[in-house]
This record gives sequence, C-alpha cells and structure tokens, in this order.
Amino acid sequence: MTNALLDVVGLNKAFQVKPKSAKLFARPTRVQVLNDISFELYEGETLSIVGESGCGKTTLGRCLVKGIPATAGQVMYRTEEDERVDFLALKGKEAKRLRRDIQMIFQDPYSSLSPRMSVFDIISEPLVANFKLSRAEVEDKVKDIAEKAGLNASYLRRYPHAFSGGQRQRIAIARALIMKPRLIVCDEAVSALDVSIQAQIINLLKDLQEQFKITYLFISHDLSIVQNISDRVAVMHLGRIVELAPTKELFEGPKHPYTEALMSAVPQPDPEADHSRIILEGEVPNPAHPPSGCHFHPRCAYRTEKCMQQSPELREIADGHSVACHYAEQLNLRGVRHD
Ligand code: SF4
Repeated sequence: MTNALLDVVGLNKAFQVKPKSAKLFARPTRVQVLNDISFELYEGETLSIVGESGCGKTTLGRCLVKGIPATAGQVMYRTEEDERVDFLALKGKEAKRLRRDIQMIFQDPYSSLSPRMSVFDIISEPLVANFKLSRAEVEDKVKDIAEKAGLNASYLRRYPHAFSGGQRQRIAIARALIMKPRLIVCDEAVSALDVSIQAQIINLLKDLQEQFKITYLFISHDLSIVQNISDRVAVMHLGRIVELAPTKELFEGPKHPYTEALMSAVPQPDPEADHSRIILEGEVPNPAHPPSGCHFHPRCAYRTEKCMQQSPELREIADGHSVACHYAEQLNLRGVRHD
C-alpha cells in the first residue's frame, strides 16, 4: 500500500454492444473499454490522461467518480482521517459523503449547466443538497466561491445563456469547488474554448490548486495544454496505459512508439529540431476485436514477430517511468523540448 490519495488497482470496464446490422436476437458483443488500469494519484499533483478519441480516457474518468459502474477493480481512496477505503465499493451515506471529495468538470459548459437555473442556484445546488445551512450562509459561500472562480458576484441571478463559454466554465468550476473537493476530474475541461480563454482557465485551475491543495486528473487530447499543466502524464491506447512518466521525461524522452507519434504533433520551439509528423499506419483498432499481442502492433513502425504474439506488460523501466513495450530500453525515440 502507498500513501497516494487515490490508488487505482486493476480497473476494468466492459460494455455489451449490439452489432449495428444485427438481426433481432443477435448476441451483443463484449467490448473491453478499460483493461486492467492501475496507477496512483498523489495529493496536490496534476496527472493527465492522454490518447486518441476512443482510447477509454473519458470512461476512466467516469468510472473513477462512479458516474458509470466499473466492471472490476478497486479505487482505494485515502480519507482525511487517513483511512483507506474502496470508493467503488462504498454505498449509502458513506458513498454520498465521499462523493463530495471527488468532483468532475465536463468538456462542454453549454450542455453541463441547466439553462433553467440561475447561476446562484447552479452553484448552490450541491451545497443545499448536502448540508443544512441558512439562506445567509449559502449566499455567503456562493459569493465567496464565485469570486474565487473569477465570476462577478453581481451576475449570480442571471442564467447560463447570458455568459460566454469561458465564464460558463468558471460557473462549472465554482459548482465543483463549493463542495471543497480534494480531487477534481477535468474531462476535456478547456477543449471547447478559444485559445486565449483556455489559458485563463488553465491559470485559474493552477491558482485554485495552490490555494486549496486540489489534486487534478486532467483528461485531454491536447498535448500542448497537458505539457503546461501536468506533473505526470499517462498515455492510453485501446483501454490500456502504455506509458506513464513525469511530464518533462515523457515529452523529452518518450519510450513507447505510440507516445512518440503523439509527440510529433506538438509544435517544437527549437527551429533545428525534426518537425516532421509521424503518421500512424492504418485505422485505430476496433476494441471489440483487438489485435493479437501488443495492441499497437498493426500501427507500429518498430514491430517484430514477438510483438504480434506477446502482449507487453506495463513495467517500470526507470524511477516513476513505466512503459508497455517489449523494446522500451532499446528504441531511440524522438520527443519534444519541455520548458
Ligand atoms: Fe511497437 Fe512492439 Fe513496442 Fe508494441 S511492443 S509498441 S509493437 S515495438
């Protein structure tokens, strides 16, 4: 056992999917969306989860907050009393109490906020549902948290449609913050915003982290943002973590060919550097029928016979740097500079 805030152990998620052209009584296919995911999340850090669309990163976030049930695995959570509990196995009052500690911010601030509720009601709703407070106490708390999230308290009686995308994301952040969470799962939280607004929201998230010692699990496909915000990065491919390392190490010296390909899309500040983009061969494999051996082998330029037959384990090749590739130590892969 470690001293991590969250210790995810062997998390699996499978869906039963009916083939599109199926006859009425055709059997559904089992699709393994998360496959034996294990990692630790340390208090006060930002761990980013990256990968192409469909790699399972959003499903991972939703399983962690119990938005959807995991098929198997544990999420060991260290409480403020320093007890370790399996968050996924908790039920009733205890689950409700701990759910306050783990909040989620979604990608689309337009659809995640109820258009029929005022900003005040949106932010205060979780507070009112969980605590017995007077109206004055609720007002004070909402005003305080709105200001911390960069919202003008005089606009709290307005409705979400009156706000810009960046301001709506600030409302979503204030709603999450009001419960004083220890962990926030940010699912593509800035992807729908303009670049200049993205920078403001990222800076806000960083300030709030410092102020309240919040831990972030930051799900994103945008490596430039991930490079800026993360302490560590986990790369997912077809429902598995294929590389996990501190941000600088991962960006400057990737050890998995899939990470190398993702990195080649990041703009290089060095004019002398190799700017050519690695275009992966073939389609993203179908998770209902994953390739044999290493799931990345049909698209990997370095594959051998062994890769087609044997699935590589995620193993630690240096302190804090884990890779699922048979040849992680031998390959000399290209990264990008991390300032
Ligand atoms: Fe490529 Fe083989 Fe490594 Fe898989 S195990 S990433 S196919 S070199």
